[in-house]
Amino acid sequence: MPGFELFGDKERAEVNKVLDTGVLMRYGFDGMRNGQWKAIELEKALAKRMQVNHAQLLSSGTAALTVALASAGIGAGDEVIMPTFTFVASFESIMAIGAVPILVDVDDTLTLNPEAVENAITERTKVVMPVHMCGSMADLKALKAICDKHDLILLEDACQAIGGTFEGKPLGSYGDIGCFSFDYVKTITCGEGGAVITNNEKYKLNADHYSDHGHDHIGKDRGAEAHPFLGYNYRISELNAAVGLAQIDRLDEFLSIQKKNYTILRDALETIPEVTFRRVPDGGEESYAFLSFFLEDEQMAQKVHEGLGSGGVDACFYWYNNNWHYYRKWEHLTNLKSLGKLPQAIYNQLPDYSKVDFTKSDHWVGRTISCLIKLGWSESEVKERAAKMVKVIKETI
Ligand SMILES: *Cc1c(COP(=O)(O)O)cnc(C)c1O
Repeated sequence: MPGFELFGDKERAEVNKVLDTGVLMRYGFDGMRNGQWKAIELEKALAKRMQVNHAQLLSSGTAALTVALASAGIGAGDEVIMPTFTFVASFESIMAIGAVPILVDVDDTLTLNPEAVENAITERTKVVMPVHMCGSMADLKALKAICDKHDLILLEDACQAIGGTFEGKPLGSYGDIGCFSFDYVKTITCGEGGAVITNNEKYKLNADHYSDHGHDHIGKDRGAEAHPFLGYNYRISELNAAVGLAQIDRLDEFLSIQKKNYTILRDALETIPEVTFRRVPDGGEESYAFLSFFLEDEQMAQKVHEGLGSGGVDACFYWYNNNWHYYRKWEHLTNLKSLGKLPQAIYNQLPDYSKVDFTKSDHWVGRTISCLIKLGWSESEVKERAAKMVKVIKETI
């Protein structure tokens, strides 16, 4: 997945154009910038590639989720449905605006189970936030039908699946609003960065203002601009945007390398009858950022994971025991361990996650191993890796 593996001359050239002007900020300084507007150029390129009307670049993927929620008018006490298997950024962004994260089971897609989503809806629910984990997507068709029926916003976290599609549409563009991360370990990187994409003009305008202290960006005098509503600073710098501008041009090249490497590994593992694979919903095509597969049960998955590690197969993850990606280790959320007081709505409404039954998630995540697909591997390295994986698995099961 990581774009940093193939970092080089193109990225350096774009960054140097910014350094030559000395204008490191995306807004203002028109006279000094010598025509360089990297954030705007990257927003245009991203919107075009993702087949949407608008993109707003931000300082991180977490910022993108926060800004997306704020832009859709979500605030204190609103409930946002999110999966048990994701990155901590999901609940961080929800709680940053005073909203309440409602965790819901995942299924064999390793993403939100639509039936569990429907069961979790209350009169306070405003958003359904599927997270397209590890290169593949939630059942967006089913989730969209639920959102339409209950008048909810569908917000896609496509941070780990940029370049995947559903019913021919780029992930992130199917729902009302979509988010990407360009942090250092994502498929394409800005160093740090993120983006919101949408076809909703109101959301785009809100995101544009909210991410820059509420600036309305009308006119040529920043100090004289109006502030129609309260905002914050989630801006990206021109230096980070310049890196991303070089990387987005290479997205399709990266995706084709991922697919090639993924296919070699998958074909090898498919020869083992005891290994099954995560379900990709009908109409979906993965980004091939990871290969995720199931073993018979939790014990077997743990043994295979250990065997892969000691057998020299790196970059394979057993998420069930991971501190950052699965609800079991999120005791800081369960116990609301924050530095200061949180918004009252969160204390009042957060379910007691030490008591909620997520055995349906455990059933799938406990059996899952995900292996990162790297871009820098040679074909012979991938084949060697495939052979090692098959050997370890066969010896373990
Ligand atoms: C990386 C990631 C984020 C957050 O992105 P940052 O740019 O690191 O803040 C959010 N959601 C998912 C699923 C991610 O993988």
